[in-house]
Amino acid sequence: MDCDYDVVIIGAGCVGAFAAFYASKYDLRVCVLESRAHPGLVTTNANCGIVHAGHNTKHNTLKSQLIDRGNALIAELAPLLNFSFKRCGELVVAASPDEYQQLDEMYAYSKSINVPVEYWDAEQLRLHEPNLSHSIQRAILTPTAGIVNPHELTVSAVQTAVKNGARLFCDQKVTEITRNGSVFTVKTEKKVFKTKTVVNCAGLYADSIARMDDPATKINIRPRKGECYILNEVLVNRLIFPIPFGTSKGMLVIPTVDGKTLVGPTADFVDSKEDVCTSEDGKKRIFALAEKMVPKVNMSMIESEFAGCRAVDASEDFVMNQKDGFINFAGTQSPGLTSSPAIGQVLVEEILKNFANAKLKEKWEYAPLVKTQKADCTQKLEIVEEITNKGDLDDQTHKTTYSWVRGYEQ
Ligand SMILES: Cc1cc2nc3c(=O)[nH]c(=O)nc-3n(C[C@H](O)[C@H](O)[C@H](O)COP(=O)(O)OP(=O)(O)OC[C@H]3O[C@@H](n4cnc5c(N)ncnc54)[C@H](O)[C@@H]3O)c2cc1C
Repeated sequence: MDCDYDVVIIGAGCVGAFAAFYASKYDLRVCVLESRAHPGLVTTNANCGIVHAGHNTKHNTLKSQLIDRGNALIAELAPLLNFSFKRCGELVVAASPDEYQQLDEMYAYSKSINVPVEYWDAEQLRLHEPNLSHSIQRAILTPTAGIVNPHELTVSAVQTAVKNGARLFCDQKVTEITRNGSVFTVKTEKKVFKTKTVVNCAGLYADSIARMDDPATKINIRPRKGECYILNEVLVNRLIFPIPFGTSKGMLVIPTVDGKTLVGPTADFVDSKEDVCTSEDGKKRIFALAEKMVPKVNMSMIESEFAGCRAVDASEDFVMNQKDGFINFAGTQSPGLTSSPAIGQVLVEEILKNFANAKLKEKWEYAPLVKTQKADCTQKLEIVEEITNKGDLDDQTHKTTYSWVRGYEQ
């Protein structure tokens, strides 16, 4: 049976974007199917934009294997793709003897996994982070942590894939997948695609997509919501983390690449994958904890707010598996943004197992993002539209396009 494509990637969040980016380096017919009107408008557009250093990720997990590589690749790719990235560093702060002990444990752990780390005392903290609470007497600095504009990163990766021959189809929700021998038929609400390989990067819906091929799949995604608030002032120079608790990294105070402060996120399991509402309760919890670390944080500074759902697998880890040309990458909760270029590379290694003769393209080019001066939100979205088939923005999209779209206003 004839195939239109060698590879169909489902989902154009940061993970699907980098799968397409790396696949487009090879002489493969690559296609990306995205249910929304543009790439990167779901979880990828509703997160904190942190490029994690790796020391707050559990050892011996798939996450821990991909986070370092992801961090390094983001630094390498940012100037080539022209997305905003700053290696601002991260401080984990402590204010009591109990917390000092946990800080020491974190320091030892970071050293053991080769994440660069150093102690800062009260004097260094006052000098370099004058808005930190004076109750904070100690911290550990991780200089390799950073911040990024996730939307820019994703759009630039997809754009590069498209420039190098990949096809992107938006407004194409995948509804059915069937196999006939080695050929998959992927149906959307509007079209039918035939392919030799399917790569499932559908984020919150990766379990539904996996089930279309294997009804017995163990992938089961629960949504864990995070609310975030953007403040209209720069209050800190580095990422400020409390001592983590449970599976949560806690409430953070984060400088954004576009010169604001982000506080959050919460981490609460919710019933619906579409629940992206902020709440009074979430806001109160975030501000109570953020104000403890940075007393100047105040609700009167709120400029905008958003929420997104993490795609959480029961293992609390990323999940990757493949069966006869059907590749799943699921459970892409944090640090999925940081790891996304590394996940893209790993997925392409899997894809290439199906295409032993695939060669690197002779001519492969980056498509750096063009940032226009003082463009407003609508103009920015037009840039995104240039690389997609079409797209009117629905209400949901407007709600979640806070600042990561605005963020590439220069
Ligand atoms: C509040 C919050 C804060 C976070 N902070 C950070 C952070 O600071 N650093 C970090 O590293 N990570 C962070 N994360 C995690 C990070 O955002 C995710 O790991 C990452 O965005 C996952 O990307 P993705 O491509 O897997 O998913 P998504 O961005 O959700 O992309 C999946 C895509 O698949 C599409 N899709 C779904 N179903 C279908 C279908 N049937 N047909 C076609 N397309 C489909 C969707 O429309 C979507 O565009 C955070 C997450 C949250 C919620």
